[in-house]
Amino acid sequence: MEFGTIAAIATPMGEGGIGIVRVSGSESIPIVDKIFKGSSQLSTVDSHTIHYGHLIEPGTEEIQDEVMVSVMKGPRTFTREDVVEINCHGGIVSVNRTLQMVLEQGAQLAEPGEFTKRAFLNGRIDLSQAEAVIDLIRAKTDRAMSIALQQSEGKLSRLVQRLRQEILTLLAHVEVNIDYPEHDVESVTRAMLLEESEQIQKALETLLQTSRQGKILREGLSTVIIGRPNVGKSSLLNSLIQENKAIVTDIPGTTRDVIEEYVNIRGVPLKLVDTAGIRDTEDIVERIGVEKSRQLLREADLILLVLNYNEPLTSEDLALFEVAQGLNTIVIVNKIDLPQRLDLAKVEKQMLSAPLITLSVLEEQGIDQLEEAIAALFFKGQIMQEDQTYISNARHIALVKEAIQLIDEFRNSIEMGMPVDISAFDLKRTWEILGEIIGDTASDSLLDQIFSQFCLGK
Ligand code: GDP
Ligand code: ZN
Repeated sequence: MEFGTIAAIATPMGEGGIGIVRVSGSESIPIVDKIFKGSSQLSTVDSHTIHYGHLIEPGTEEIQDEVMVSVMKGPRTFTREDVVEINCHGGIVSVNRTLQMVLEQGAQLAEPGEFTKRAFLNGRIDLSQAEAVIDLIRAKTDRAMSIALQQSEGKLSRLVQRLRQEILTLLAHVEVNIDYPEHDVESVTRAMLLEESEQIQKALETLLQTSRQGKILREGLSTVIIGRPNVGKSSLLNSLIQENKAIVTDIPGTTRDVIEEYVNIRGVPLKLVDTAGIRDTEDIVERIGVEKSRQLLREADLILLVLNYNEPLTSEDLALFEVAQGLNTIVIVNKIDLPQRLDLAKVEKQMLSAPLITLSVLEEQGIDQLEEAIAALFFKGQIMQEDQTYISNARHIALVKEAIQLIDEFRNSIEMGMPVDISAFDLKRTWEILGEIIGDTASDSLLDQIFSQFCLGK
């Protein structure tokens, strides 16, 4: 496929030793050639070589920067197109000027993710791998990063392809059945179809089960800290942020959009929610009432309800318990460095099954236990397995759910004694739906594939 030539800054904005402007497309080499002066013309050099020289203003020949330029001819590049990367001096002004010069010579400013999109459209990676690149960019923690990396390397694709292959084999058996009805293979086929499809269904269900953790790892556990004024919410928040600075990753070729406050608690990314000013809620209940604040909090994955060890339980505290009822809550009793005025037995009666952590943010006591409680709540005792394939993307989750549903319908109709070739429609749909995960939906190829696999002795 042929697209226009695009360019973008491929390094994170800000101070840095070098900045990279990446250009991709059939015109990338001629475009950069117009503003580059080195010992040779870029159009004459070998692919995958680096050249020292200067950026010059085409009209005036005025030197703008000292650069290293990499020339990589397609298809052995990320986008499969000709790619040129200009390594110039870092810093916003210098990198922006370089980009500007490239744009003036006719390149288009790349949209976010456009290099990856081209890699997909040009067939270098499949859809789920393309999506994983986006996840990589947004990964907030080591774990989210490693999941995305595995996906970008095709781990999810391989699982999906394996399951699709198994479905094709089943469909081939259905074909046999249609072709040789007189051989009484029908009942054997039914039993076999039920057994094999159950395996596929189980594999899909296992995959779906990873989605909750996967989604949280990807998006962060949205967390709200609630409590009366002065109990120490802001102090707790600051302490969590200072001790657990989230790892934010930068991948060349992309721009990071949203900057939110993430902290990494033992591998669990907490996203400290700052919508509607409820991150640090002083008087949320008073302001909007119990019902409304509960609605708001229902969207949170985790509530940290903070109490003051140094003061008796108040009606405001009780209102917060009411609001947090039934939600994923950890009760935190802060300021244990001060004399006790809080009746812990009373607190325990309010909180039902929520864990209780006593701590002092001021004296940095008990924060470890809080972190442990957060991790325990999230992982529910199960340790994430390295070799597990995770899905976290909403599109994939929806497709996997649909596939499970279809297999279920297939199995039901087989059990009910429907003709296998009729039941097989659901199976074919499953194959197509799974294909959407990797961006391969061409349903015409279905029959081709069946026939190329099995010639049925004809
Ligand atoms: P918020 O209104 O709930 O956000 O509470 P702040 O975090 O602003 O804290 C209110 C006051 O309590 C501040 O003066 C803090 O220094 C103090 N404070 C916070 N945590 C502790 C603690 O563990 N022990 C003591 N003694 N004071 C604390
Ligand atoms: Zn505060």
